[in-house]
Amino acid sequence: MTQADITTVSAEQAAADLRAFAARGPMPAESRIDLVGVEREAMVALFAEAGLPKFRANQVWQWIYHKGAIGFDGMTNLAKPLRQQLAERFRISRPAIATRQDSIDGTIKWLLRFADGNEAEMVFIPEEDRGTLCISSQVGCTLTCSFCHTGTQRLVRNLTTAEIVGQVMLALDELGGFPTGGFNRRLTNIVLMGMGEPLYNFENVASALRIVMDNEGVALSRRRITLSTSGVVPMMERCGEEIGVNLAISLHATTDDTRDILVPINKKWPIQTLLDACRAYPGVNNARRITFEYVMLEGINDSLEDAKRLVSLIRGIPAKINLIPFNPWPGSNYVCSNDEHIERFAQVVLKAGYASPVRRPRGRDIFAACGQLKSESRRQTRRELRAEAAE
Ligand code: SF4
Repeated sequence: MTQADITTVSAEQAAADLRAFAARGPMPAESRIDLVGVEREAMVALFAEAGLPKFRANQVWQWIYHKGAIGFDGMTNLAKPLRQQLAERFRISRPAIATRQDSIDGTIKWLLRFADGNEAEMVFIPEEDRGTLCISSQVGCTLTCSFCHTGTQRLVRNLTTAEIVGQVMLALDELGGFPTGGFNRRLTNIVLMGMGEPLYNFENVASALRIVMDNEGVALSRRRITLSTSGVVPMMERCGEEIGVNLAISLHATTDDTRDILVPINKKWPIQTLLDACRAYPGVNNARRITFEYVMLEGINDSLEDAKRLVSLIRGIPAKINLIPFNPWPGSNYVCSNDEHIERFAQVVLKAGYASPVRRPRGRDIFAACGQLKSESRRQTRRELRAEAAE
């Protein structure tokens, strides 16, 4: 943002802003436009519609995304009457926190409630050199990966751009991490590994990430963002080209027979097709590797043969491997591989040149670990919808 953008403007400009707003009048509270989740160009257009120049949109953008403003009152480089009139047309939202749980290992899990009452989970995982926020892209999931708790919850709906960005904003509020808070920001990385398949909600996810990556706002680099997919092959190229974030693949098996059960989308796009798409992922190179996630399930996918097949399958792809000890959840049918089997598997992976492959489980005591997220939200049945409409 240029200096001209952030300095207070002339009295004539302020008067022109007010005249523009006065001509349009206030909007009822329920139809005020949520500015969170509106991309920068669209915000400029919205302001233009309201008769306000581009630099006003840029000022407000900076207040929202750089300083974490949640209302217009504190926007001190705007005249007071203009702030009030902005508040009569727009709002700046956050999801509500239904619950917050803190793990003994420092992991934090929030159950978030959106305006329509639906809920999704979000997790913050602090480590020595980074702090990773795991966000959700859907309420529930259409896919039914058999090791994943979310997979037992039918898809309720996609999250909107505002709801995806809102998760990051809320975490920054909670962790005190807006850029103006200095460079001791606790939140340094984002992973889309929470509830849902992000590539089945691509438009909203891409829009949210463009907002989060904007240099004059939250300013998180694409190198610090990882999108995890179960393998929606036709969307992978677009993901690389349009948002260019790091890619993680929920692989979890080395044969189609096993993967068909663990990650049923494999029946549509089997392992070889998926790996071909990984080889072609835009921007993949040794500095930007694809992460292959592999949950360790006793007697299912943890044999020595599996380990050898895994390294041979991904040969030639610049890759990292994350071996994830299975995190049980109520009703799950799998058992975590024992330490000896994990170690045996990890040795093969290590010898093939992949460093530190075993991921330490985090937040297990609060069910915040990988594959354990789920909310109570559910899609209403037709009968329920009819009954509601009849009331
Ligand atoms: S692993 Fe991901 S894609 Fe599969 S069911 Fe769970 S949330 Fe959905």
